[in-house]
Amino acid sequence: MLLDPYKRRINYLRISVTDRCNLRCCYCMPEEGIPLIPHEHILTYEEILRIVRVFAAEGISKVRLTGGEPLVRKGIIDLVSLLSQVPGINDLSLTTNGILLKQFAWNLRRAGLKRVNISLDSLRRDRFCQITRKDEYEKVWEGILESLNVGFSPIKINMVAIQGLNDDEIEDFARLTLQLPLVVRYIEYMPAGNGEAWRESDILTISEIRTRLEKIGNLVALPTDQRDGPALRFRFEGATGEIGLIGPVSNHFCGECNRLRLTPDGKIRACLFSDEEIDLRELLRKGGSDHDLREHLLEALRAKPERHHINTTQFKKCQRNMSAIGG
Ligand code: SAM
Repeated sequence: MLLDPYKRRINYLRISVTDRCNLRCCYCMPEEGIPLIPHEHILTYEEILRIVRVFAAEGISKVRLTGGEPLVRKGIIDLVSLLSQVPGINDLSLTTNGILLKQFAWNLRRAGLKRVNISLDSLRRDRFCQITRKDEYEKVWEGILESLNVGFSPIKINMVAIQGLNDDEIEDFARLTLQLPLVVRYIEYMPAGNGEAWRESDILTISEIRTRLEKIGNLVALPTDQRDGPALRFRFEGATGEIGLIGPVSNHFCGECNRLRLTPDGKIRACLFSDEEIDLRELLRKGGSDHDLREHLLEALRAKPERHHINTTQFKKCQRNMSAIGG
């Protein structure tokens, strides 16, 4: 079992397989994109697999693939297939913007993927274009339908709620759960990503969201499932789907954090908001042993901060963009 200095059990690795993305979400990066990590610095699938095998033997049992956009990386189905067979990994998931899901859903399912998170911040085509700077709304919606079709379960739709940008769609998203077996999750906007775009006043807190949802129906609280991580779970009476509320800013869950992140260029980050990174790529490419990898894993655990400092005077924005860390 992997424990950090604060006695938190660490069993979850988020792997960003690429920093490339086919969207340009306004709160994530500028329209022209950001400088990309050179190809030769990106971990190969063999390197990722080796890290996961060693980490799984130590106690990592959950892996999520993310990015950038994970589905733009060539051969992603092969990676899913290899990871789904690693002994000890019993929960493999993927976070995607959904654009390529229609195309990939069946093969992902066949490769062993059971569940997906799809990021979607608007149900209106024009606003989707405004937020993501790409006219791809239809494709994302088709990707959601295909995910239902191939039987991913659960299918979580993650919406970052931002005042004045999409806050008037809170209720529309919630209504999706009445008829469809989707888990709609609202995530507070964090100070990560595009330059100085974030302002505290842009946040829509989960308590504000909950108050709004309670006006459209009776929200029944559900027990927390291990796979829900920090989400508070609810269901409208009689609804097919579920609601999740995630409050990294107003209600931080650092005390229960069980995560490590692996960046596309092979650095372990123990906290989204800490720039301290442990380099595994260098180690692997210099012929490091599995024992060395384990030692680096333990070093990363020792560096895991007790909490992030958003909304305190100690807060410093992280150096890397979200797309190069993995959201
Ligand atoms: N391309 C994939 C996707 O769209 O899900 C994976 C990467 S994306 C960076 C992962 C998630 O991070 C998305 O749901 C995105 O909305 C979220 N995200 C990015 N910047 C954020 C911020 N400042 N606050 C909250 N969530 C953010």
